[in-house]
Amino acid sequence: MQERLDNDIQYLKGVGPRRVKILNRLGIYTVRDLLYFFPRRHEDRSKFTRIADLVSNEYHTVKGTVRAMGVRRTYKGFTIFELMITDNGTLTAIWFNQPYLKDQFIKGQEVVIYGKIETIPNLHINNPEYEILSDIKKDTIHTGRIVPVYPLTEYLTQKSIRSILWGVLNKFSADIIDYLPQAIKKEYRLSDLFSAINTLHFPKNLSDLEKARTRIVFDDFFILQVVLARRKYDLKVETAGIAHNNIVNLSLTLKKNLPFSLTKSQEKVIEEIFSDMTSPQPMHRLLQGDVGSGKTIVAVFAVLLAIDNGYQAAIMAPTEMLALQHANTLASFLEPLGLNIALVVGRTKVGLKKKLYAQIESGQVQIIIGTHALLEEKLKFRNLSLIVIDEQHKFGVAQRLKLKTKGNNPDVMVMTATPIPRTLAMTAYGDLDVSKISELPPNRVPVKTYWITEKKRAGLYNFLRQRLNEKKQIYVVYPLIEASEKIDLKDATQMYENFKNGIFKNFNIGLVYGRQPKNDREKIMSDFHQGKIDILVATTVVEVGIDVPNAAIMLIEHAERFGLSQLHQLRGRVGRGSEESYCILLSDAKTKEAVQRLSAMVNTLDGFKIAEVDLKIRGPGELLGTRQHGFPEFKLADIIKDANILKIARTEAFKLVAADLNLSHRSNQLLKKVIQQTYPRGFELSKTG
Ligand code: ADP
Ligand code: MG
Repeated sequence: MQERLDNDIQYLKGVGPRRVKILNRLGIYTVRDLLYFFPRRHEDRSKFTRIADLVSNEYHTVKGTVRAMGVRRTYKGFTIFELMITDNGTLTAIWFNQPYLKDQFIKGQEVVIYGKIETIPNLHINNPEYEILSDIKKDTIHTGRIVPVYPLTEYLTQKSIRSILWGVLNKFSADIIDYLPQAIKKEYRLSDLFSAINTLHFPKNLSDLEKARTRIVFDDFFILQVVLARRKYDLKVETAGIAHNNIVNLSLTLKKNLPFSLTKSQEKVIEEIFSDMTSPQPMHRLLQGDVGSGKTIVAVFAVLLAIDNGYQAAIMAPTEMLALQHANTLASFLEPLGLNIALVVGRTKVGLKKKLYAQIESGQVQIIIGTHALLEEKLKFRNLSLIVIDEQHKFGVAQRLKLKTKGNNPDVMVMTATPIPRTLAMTAYGDLDVSKISELPPNRVPVKTYWITEKKRAGLYNFLRQRLNEKKQIYVVYPLIEASEKIDLKDATQMYENFKNGIFKNFNIGLVYGRQPKNDREKIMSDFHQGKIDILVATTVVEVGIDVPNAAIMLIEHAERFGLSQLHQLRGRVGRGSEESYCILLSDAKTKEAVQRLSAMVNTLDGFKIAEVDLKIRGPGELLGTRQHGFPEFKLADIIKDANILKIARTEAFKLVAADLNLSHRSNQLLKKVIQQTYPRGFELSKTG
């Protein structure tokens, strides 16, 4: 029975090859696809208006009897078909260039028409939708009821798709079998699947729509959460990991020697990580923390726990600059404790690499920090038990998995400074445990953010000069490296020349951009780091992770061209010392979206609030970069609007999977099939990580 829903639409009545093509383009191949092709909105045409009560310029539905009709030709050569209908009054319906309509109607027939009423030069209705009431057809589809309006291409009329769906619902509704566990449906008073689908297309009352929608939204979330729950339980329950049981020696020593005390948030997060790492099940945790919240030191404590237990730990970062920075930070904390650190990046010389590989394989080196270079085949660990991945959104899942195979079910912690709203984390990273650092270290002076327009540029340069004279460093970021012909943008190269030879010629200026030879770029970054460069002109390559405490100003040109999360990341590059710092957004933008983004930047420093706004503006796929993360396409669910349903669906999905990991109970068979159909690859276990 269910199988009939997999029928190809080409076998449907009224769907010829041309329509098949159009529907395919909408992603519709089977009857099931059609059933789930929901309307964008509905129009209430259920109430008939008497002709005497019609109001000009409003849409009305009128029922009446055909009294007269005729085709005439205008002096410009158009044809006009006129149909006169009456109830107690008289109304003329007019269609342009459809003379064949005259064969559709017969005098004395009852018809329903729907459209916009016009009164100039006299009462009429232009190109209305119509239906002829006959005894055979009891229900009207297009008029006289609440009708669906579908999201369509220009090649298919509302009328045709409505008729197709009407037919399909009549023929196949009985094949829709509800796969959701009865208990869940009862507990949350969810609609039956059959009635939910029918109602969403052809509701009897507009007030029925919400409940029907809720059911489909629930399913959207529930099906995904079952997949995520299975992955998570599989990893936790079915896989033997490493229990780091040894009492924490080194971390106590480190804690005593730290130049600052940890924030409460950091303490809590370290506890969560330690509890994962001491358990025999593999850790699979996402550590979220706003830029500057101090994630690195948290990672250091995790690293120490691994080493205390006789294992090795690896940290992978997306750029050489970041890897180097981590290596320096960790060295300052850990070398006093007598630990050895290796830095492995792409340009590490072959000879040195060989030596490092030997030390890593023998266990002489306990901490290995690097870029993608860590994934190299020849690099073998002695006993890797912890992997930390920094700025994880810069890596693909495959890379994460590859590093994992270099240990024996090692613990994995991924870190991100792009805060993810809770509902999105539950969806996109729903198989990970999530820890969150929710406060910044106390010594921070909040970054002052200003949005200024081009008119103020001269004043801005004066301000910059004063800060430079105080030995402060400045970032100037551009969206482009070279101006394109079409867009009149200030570009990085040109401004670099201007600064260097003109307005700031007494200062040292550096230029970095993505396509620059890597060595040049790293050299300039490192000069900036050491204070040899005063102004760093850059594209967004400075976006991620770089820590230069003396940099006090982030100037962003054409700020309207950057995404909100990106702007926040850029701002995170300053305010890392204990002195006053500034983020200046230069933009003459006026579009609503740009104003929203720039205002959000001015109004809050909180990365999580920024992320919420960004999610609202751009939607989840964009926020995460859809392709990389394969963010699911829901039929109706919206993770912002439907957050409450998401929470319930998640709870129930996890309960279900806890009771029946492989959905092997007989009562779960149908559900299992639907899940496999929705996420063909998501259902395999122990391969996903
Ligand atoms: P992010 O979370 O952006 O990676 P980092 O780990 O680079 O942040 O930390 C930013 C700066 O804050 C570093 O210089 C670090 O030493 C410092 N820091 C971290 N934790 C604290 C703390 N509890 N108190 C004071 N400073 C801290
Ligand atoms: Mg960091």
